[in-house]
Amino acid sequence: LVRARGVHKRFGDNEVLKGIDMDVKHGEVVVILGPSGSGKSTFLRCINHLETMDSGSIVVGEEQVGYALRNGQLHTLSPAKLAQQRSHIGMVFQQFNLYPHLTVLQNITEAPVGVHKQKRADAEAYAMELLERVGLREKAHAYPRQLSGGQQQRVSIARALAIKPKLMLFDEPTSALDPELVGEVLSTMRDLAEQGLTMIVVTHEIGFAKEAADRVVFMDGGVVVEAGTPDEVLGNPQHARTRAFLSRFI
Ligand code: ATP
Ligand code: MG
Repeated sequence: LVRARGVHKRFGDNEVLKGIDMDVKHGEVVVILGPSGSGKSTFLRCINHLETMDSGSIVVGEEQVGYALRNGQLHTLSPAKLAQQRSHIGMVFQQFNLYPHLTVLQNITEAPVGVHKQKRADAEAYAMELLERVGLREKAHAYPRQLSGGQQQRVSIARALAIKPKLMLFDEPTSALDPELVGEVLSTMRDLAEQGLTMIVVTHEIGFAKEAADRVVFMDGGVVVEAGTPDEVLGNPQHARTRAFLSRFI
């Protein structure tokens, strides 16, 4: 479903991504680990073209992210086409970014109704289904400030799912949460993984990586240092840098 090849990105003199290759199959859960500044967020942002690559390519489904092939040449997509491409990709950030003046239900239906021109009744019915899935049906008419951080993050997940994405990107979804609220969000994500959603998850939750990931990718300094099954990468890391990183979590 995702094929990234030779993705390079620099900010000024700072070469942040130095040629990232990554494949994610349909239904796979890939966890990306790595120290701060290793380029994890930048890579996720390249996947939905929130960031433009300097070189390399990323294909999601059949589509070349950010570009289209016309007459044998790559052309940059128009903003409208880009928005359409992004609409197949859901993203959940560390900060929940819910609209404070909208209810939970309004937050979730905003994109389906506003952008995808779905009928409000249909969008609301689906939003209620999603709230059921994240265990928050009874909070449909609450405002974000009336929810705990963990509940807000589960609403953010429901909101990302409302556009029926074929791929979900999570960027440290539990890092901003109090420790006692982390579990409920991870458990929601584990359910999604079991339901076959394709997910790329940047997280420091090694336990989640062990249980839910099909593959673990360790990034450092803008390159993929090591990738494999959780048993391989977490249980028997081959590289000193991976071992040094993991030793912090034991
Ligand atoms: P963390 O674990 O702290 O979230 P990360 O692996 O997600 O780290 P990135 O956010 O991808 O790392 O950042 C990688 C590098 O790119 C950092 O050195 C950062 O300062 C730099 N960087 C990221 N975004 C920008 C930007 N918009 N402009 C300039 N530099 C940036
Ligand atoms: Mg980051």
